[in-house]
Amino acid sequence: MSRVVVVGAGVAGLLSALELSDRGWQVSLLDAGPARPSASWAGGGILSPLFPWRYPSSLLPLTGNVRRDYATWQQRIIQAGGRDPELLGGGMVVLVDGAEQRQASDWAASNNIALQADAAASWFPWLEQSAICLPDVARIRNPRLLKGLAMLVQKSSIRWLQGHVEAVASSPSGVRLEASCGVLEADHALITAGAWSHKLLPELVSLTYPVKGQMLLYQAPQAFPEKVLLTEQGYLIPRSGGLLLAGSTVEPDQWDGRPTERACKQLAETVAQLWPVLQKEQPLAQWSGIRPGCKRPVPIIGQVPDSHDRLWVNTGHFRNGLVCGPASARLVAELISGETPFCNPAPYSVSSSSSSPP
Ligand SMILES: Cc1cc2nc3c(=O)[nH]c(=O)nc-3n(C[C@H](O)[C@H](O)[C@H](O)COP(=O)(O)OP(=O)(O)OC[C@H]3O[C@@H](n4cnc5c(N)ncnc54)[C@H](O)[C@@H]3O)c2cc1C
Repeated sequence: MSRVVVVGAGVAGLLSALELSDRGWQVSLLDAGPARPSASWAGGGILSPLFPWRYPSSLLPLTGNVRRDYATWQQRIIQAGGRDPELLGGGMVVLVDGAEQRQASDWAASNNIALQADAAASWFPWLEQSAICLPDVARIRNPRLLKGLAMLVQKSSIRWLQGHVEAVASSPSGVRLEASCGVLEADHALITAGAWSHKLLPELVSLTYPVKGQMLLYQAPQAFPEKVLLTEQGYLIPRSGGLLLAGSTVEPDQWDGRPTERACKQLAETVAQLWPVLQKEQPLAQWSGIRPGCKRPVPIIGQVPDSHDRLWVNTGHFRNGLVCGPASARLVAELISGETPFCNPAPYSVSSSSSSPP
């Protein structure tokens, strides 16, 4: 049986490890632990790119079937005795002006995506702005998803080690990883180390950068529509039990993962604008995560050049790591396994030249 080491146990690493294990690989999964907290726990769980029409069509293969894919993972988690990760529908209402509404409508029509115009008045009558609704957008409770995926890994044959990988080297016969828990040798290594991936792969230094994001959590004093509300200033995401997430800041080149008072104030101001009912409420919690920012609008998935086909990468998802998670993991597992990939992998390759993100 061929051996592969997956470095990083965020959503990209957990799903990739499971996809590879499902294909018969002998998988070891290494994670650095609390010293490098995974962004995947901090995310909001919106299963759509924000303003999806601003992205190139090459992102669509990674996002188009996300609801179906997570329904399968949800089922696997529940069947294995885990907690329901709450994959919920309801859609996403996006406040946009007239010109952008036309752009959104054209994008939806040409990609066969449902879109409802004039959506703000019916769902958010207090907002005096035009909006569209993407009724098929879903959301997921990502901390529960991550716990469920971790449980699936623990119940599988995957060997999960806590260890900080310090260096990776490849040769025609395999890979060698130097980690805090010892030296590992394998046939292949897959780097899914989020914002830290470029520290192992110099090829990514000019492509990726850290982008801190902070969120607030509220207990809603009254019912909020079962829809994500997205604006240029931020978004609100309802969760079960009357919880409401408010996000998020976008702080490039920030490695300090601690929440700040400044962000709390900024987010609270946005919240008060989006739903004045919350103006006098105190948030229950604040947290942050460091996203794997990318200088192009699609993630980096594929083999690392000049690595003898031994080193692979699945990272750079920036704000779209949860929505792209299942398809990205499937794609990289197919590529490593030498299967015909379900979509054209060229736009995501390390060496692909692509425009900057929206
Ligand atoms: C506030 C916020 C809101 C967000 N909202 C959404 C959303 O609504 N929808 C969406 O799709 N996306 C969202 N995102 C983005 C999404 O969370 C990320 O794109 C995604 O989690 C990245 O996953 P990852 O597995 O690549 O990285 P991570 O989750 O960061 O995991 C990387 C892992 O690698 C480990 N690691 C790092 N270096 C090493 C090493 N040398 N050796 C061993 N292990 C190592 C770390 O310990 C970590 O566990 C949000 C992000 C934030 C911060």
